[in-house]
Amino acid sequence: MSTKKILIVAGDGIGPEVMGQVERVIGWFAKHRDFSVSLEHELAGGCCYDVHGVAITDTTMEKAMKADAVFLGAVGGPQWDHVPYEVRPEAALLRLRKDLELFANLRPALCFAALADASSLKRELVEGLDIMIVRELTGGVYFGEPKMIEDIGNGERRGVDTQVYTTSEIRRIAEVAFELARKRSGHVTSVEKRNVMRTGVLWYEDVSRLRAERYPDVKLEHMLADNCCMQLVRDPKQFDVIVTDNLFGDMLSDVASMLTGSLGMLPSASLGAKDSSGRARAMYEPVHGTAPDIAGKGIANPIASILSFAMALRYTFERGQCADLLEKAVDATLAKGLRTGDIMQAGMTKVGTVQMGDAILAELTQLNG
Ligand code: NAD
Repeated sequence: MSTKKILIVAGDGIGPEVMGQVERVIGWFAKHRDFSVSLEHELAGGCCYDVHGVAITDTTMEKAMKADAVFLGAVGGPQWDHVPYEVRPEAALLRLRKDLELFANLRPALCFAALADASSLKRELVEGLDIMIVRELTGGVYFGEPKMIEDIGNGERRGVDTQVYTTSEIRRIAEVAFELARKRSGHVTSVEKRNVMRTGVLWYEDVSRLRAERYPDVKLEHMLADNCCMQLVRDPKQFDVIVTDNLFGDMLSDVASMLTGSLGMLPSASLGAKDSSGRARAMYEPVHGTAPDIAGKGIANPIASILSFAMALRYTFERGQCADLLEKAVDATLAKGLRTGDIMQAGMTKVGTVQMGDAILAELTQLNG
């Protein structure tokens, strides 16, 4: 296997703490599973602003462009609330997403049996839940022009955002969803509002056409976005892959993720288009932020970041069996009752960030035989 280049951008707050555990897990796979990897580290976010006066440097961007995958911890914190807008920590995230053209955001909602009682829904509704939300990330109403607030006289103002999608934008995100569905249960639910939005009609037609042309083996269902919200809390296990636009994806992925319990458990991937060699740019990160309230205390849950590495094994490095092994190790650790503070339950053993990392590594070694 060729050596894979990973750029680690741990960021601020708990970012370096949780990424430290990811590096230990990467080290385990390098040693035990012939996973050849070279790691580089760079600053981004508030820590980068403190040193360089910007949220991310051009050098780091160049390295990100060349990496097989970027692993991001999280950026931001109250100490940078007053820095100029264009160099605020979040600008690093936006630049990475934009310059790497990461148009597909994948957020799994996976419910580990040991944590089924942490969900706000009944155990039987969420136990074994495994949904993948595929959100279009670079188009739609967050980016469409015109986008403005204008004075229209008589003390009135008018705010405008524009929802706009083209066929090629719709087809490339739908392709990601269909390809994923083929590796899962072969079922895609496409979500829009074709009853009231022209972009919804286009979305419906283009996704249907792509399926007829190239993915007749995948079951395709269409659902209105408001109904999808309702169905996610009524009967979430009916879904496999959900594909939707930027705005609806923002909402639906947050609803779906909370079905599974804590922010500290949620991984994500953002993928770009494949180039002529078949390589797609990719960034992996936990859904949570820098958790300033617990930063530096050694108590953050590293599982969201570790599961993000499992996604990288599956979607960038094509090591699906390694990803399965890592997810099993997390499952086994939770089944033994180990919990960080955010997922603590009565009768369980409370551990810190490093101890959680130790336990997952021990399970990996045991499962590896
Ligand atoms: P947050 O996700 O950082 O924290 C929300 C709550 O969840 C906090 O109580 C925190 O302690 C807890 N939490 C989060 N991750 C945890 C983990 N791994 N283990 C245990 N507990 C965990 O969200 P916030 O408080 O709204 O934001 C804090 C900062 O992070 C802000 O500056 C925000 O802009 C930034 N942020 C960054 C990203 C990113 O870099 N992708 C995402 C969201 C927020």
